[in-house]
Amino acid sequence: MSKDNPLLSVVVPVYNEQEVIGETVKRLVGVLDGMSVDYEVVFVNDGSRGGTLSVLRPLCEADARLKLVNFSRNFGHQIAITAGMDMTRGAAVVVIDADLQDPPEVIPGMFEVWKQGYEVVYGKRVSREGETFFKKFTARVFYRFMARMTEVDMPVDTGDFRLIDRRVVDALRRIPERNRYVRGIVSWLGFRQYAYEYERHERFAGQTKYPLKKMLKLASDGLVSFSVKPLRWILGTGIVLSALSVLYLLYVLIASLCGAAMLSAGLYALLGFITLLLGVVMISLGVLGEYVGRIYDEAKARPLYIVSDTVNIEAVYER
Ligand code: UDP
Ligand code: MG
Repeated sequence: MSKDNPLLSVVVPVYNEQEVIGETVKRLVGVLDGMSVDYEVVFVNDGSRGGTLSVLRPLCEADARLKLVNFSRNFGHQIAITAGMDMTRGAAVVVIDADLQDPPEVIPGMFEVWKQGYEVVYGKRVSREGETFFKKFTARVFYRFMARMTEVDMPVDTGDFRLIDRRVVDALRRIPERNRYVRGIVSWLGFRQYAYEYERHERFAGQTKYPLKKMLKLASDGLVSFSVKPLRWILGTGIVLSALSVLYLLYVLIASLCGAAMLSAGLYALLGFITLLLGVVMISLGVLGEYVGRIYDEAKARPLYIVSDTVNIEAVYER
């Protein structure tokens, strides 16, 4: 597979997208057909219930270039794109959402940049249409916060929509991490990276599959897998609190030696301090727990995903 006649792979994670998936296939195939390259599209059905499969399966069965990996249940977006990449064979691999928020029409441009020699062409959103203020605000804050928290150079306002070279895919496959933050891992891998600016559209139809709970999980996976700063903050807080307590105790000792009358009102303040400190201790335990829980996950070493069945895929590479 040379760069003169490369195979282009496209990975599409799909979770309950019955309202859009037909249109997505149509638009994707339209764009890819116009590119005069050989291509394959790997749809990863991440445990969708409802009509998604009954739309997607016949479409894949009718066209050998459309492939389907059907998970046994919902494993989450990050695992779905990982599995999709595992199953691809292309010299260049594009990851794109199923809801047409990332326009497939951007792919030919990314492909050209790849041909110029960039191994990672990531989509950088210059605008986001039709998303809630809350989503845009939290995303904005989160990406900037992450950029400060990690030593890895992570671009802001960048999701998983990107084109990556086979070498990057192979490198990614050597990373066994379970609670994955794929966009961060790709930044960590290095290579020549190019920011491809595009306008993120409104969802074509249906609702977001990222409720607050999944957003928080993704954010904490990103943070915990790329930074140990929260652990240092615990240490810092502990040191400051201990130092203040020693000073305070010295003050109490000296005051009582000098015969000052104390107690009464101070008791209420004491109660406040105790609950405050309990709060600090429990938050610290929680932060620790985020790390320990992930260590536990890694130690169990369960498979990353379970494939129930596939369409048009010869070799199932599982992990
Ligand atoms: N998705 C998935 N598994 C999930 C949640 C989402 O495969 O558990 C897919 C979803 O079908 C879509 C992509 O991941 O193709 C991004 O999800 P969504 O558009 O709901 O996220 P948003 O754009 O709202 O952040
Ligand atoms: Mg979306």
